[in-house]
Amino acid sequence: MARQDWKIAVVGGGIGGLTLALALREHGIEVDIYEQANELREIGAAVALSANANHFFQRVGLREKMDQVCCSIPTLIYRDGRDGRVIGRHGGEPSYEERFGACYWGVHRADFQMVLSQAVGMERIHLGKRLRELKDSGDEVVLEFEDGSSAVADLVIGADGARSTVRKLLLGYDDCIYSGTSGFRGIVPADKLDLLPDPEAIQFWMGPGGHLLHYPIGTRGDHNFLLVERNPSVWPSRDWVIPSEPGEQLRRFHDWHPAVVQMISAVPTSPRWGLIYRWPLGRWTRGRVTLLGDAAHALVPHHGQGANQSIEDAVVLAASLGKHGRAGLPEALESYERLRRGRTRKVTYASVTTADMLHLPDGPAADARNARFSSPDAVLHHLDWIHDFDPHAQVPTERQGGTWL
Ligand SMILES: Cc1cc2nc3c(=O)[nH]c(=O)nc-3n(C[C@H](O)[C@H](O)[C@H](O)COP(=O)(O)OP(=O)(O)OC[C@H]3O[C@@H](n4cnc5c(N)ncnc54)[C@H](O)[C@@H]3O)c2cc1C
Repeated sequence: MARQDWKIAVVGGGIGGLTLALALREHGIEVDIYEQANELREIGAAVALSANANHFFQRVGLREKMDQVCCSIPTLIYRDGRDGRVIGRHGGEPSYEERFGACYWGVHRADFQMVLSQAVGMERIHLGKRLRELKDSGDEVVLEFEDGSSAVADLVIGADGARSTVRKLLLGYDDCIYSGTSGFRGIVPADKLDLLPDPEAIQFWMGPGGHLLHYPIGTRGDHNFLLVERNPSVWPSRDWVIPSEPGEQLRRFHDWHPAVVQMISAVPTSPRWGLIYRWPLGRWTRGRVTLLGDAAHALVPHHGQGANQSIEDAVVLAASLGKHGRAGLPEALESYERLRRGRTRKVTYASVTTADMLHLPDGPAADARNARFSSPDAVLHHLDWIHDFDPHAQVPTERQGGTWL
């Protein structure tokens, strides 16, 4: 292969940044990733990856590696959080994978990041590089890092998460919104969950002012949970993660179903996460700098789509850059934004309103929700516009005259 004559710098070695590096490689383009952390590790949290993201990993040959660290989830269930009755269920025939053409995977983030970083290759990932400043001269962009070093690139992609420095440098301000919901997270070994019905499923336990979401991860059947409550109404700190008292997460949920109490009691203390979001920007690009993933559209996790949307962004951006090449950079970035803006807006909106639906107080609205979810295929219809989507199909992949080689 001829030497690549343009440099692309990705700020952030999270899920979106690493996926972008792999997706661009599909189009013959290599990138350098600059990550602030000194090592790639995400502790104590997991992620559920749905078919709309997993088409990509399966297509680029990572199915076997992912199967070694993921749990494939066959069923999705909505329950009443207090008496445990099933309100809605998707699963059975056809299976999730048959219906959507790819798996639903539960995976520890550290394992996922390991699979991605090994596939990318550590020689392309520069650790301990916290971006401080960007200088776009029109012909190139200089990236300056906290450690005093710098790099030069033809294109910079800010994949640096919800509190993105790249976005702040583009906009001049930071405006994430607290959603009025906060969460506690934990991972519980399978042998501590003997009260849990349908342990193979991803489940939402709904109730007034809160819900529990959990799913199996990895190969041992451990469960990752996110317990969400509509509290506090005003976030009390500049930090989005604050300490909590032992047992604080049980206060609202102590009289919920025994399986819920057992799961959250297994993790007596968890910090409280303020759940934030950011409406997608009107424009994601200025000059030679663009945004991807949470940096462009941070989501609340009530639809489990933040990481999945970052992956969709990466697939579309890579295909647009592959199609238009270096000479067509403005067209590539314009096409990427156009293809992604509407979809991410819709998913961001649905993620916020899903919490309203999950947290309804007892009464006619909750009864109507339950009646709707109990009808055949209702759960599927709630989800299929998100999961039944392959971002790869959005961009024709023919290349233009090898301009980027
Ligand atoms: C409680 C909770 C549960 C969630 N559960 C799910 C789920 O089940 N499914 C799902 O799809 N999504 C979930 N999400 C959302 C998901 O975590 C994010 O949407 C996803 O990680 C975004 O990926 P990203 O690559 O855009 O950003 P990130 O994964 O946040 O990666 C950003 C990277 O940039 C680096 N960085 C930041 N600033 C700089 C800088 N100045 N210089 C260099 N590097 C920098 C960071 O260290 C990090 O590695 C959840 C979120 C929360 C809060």
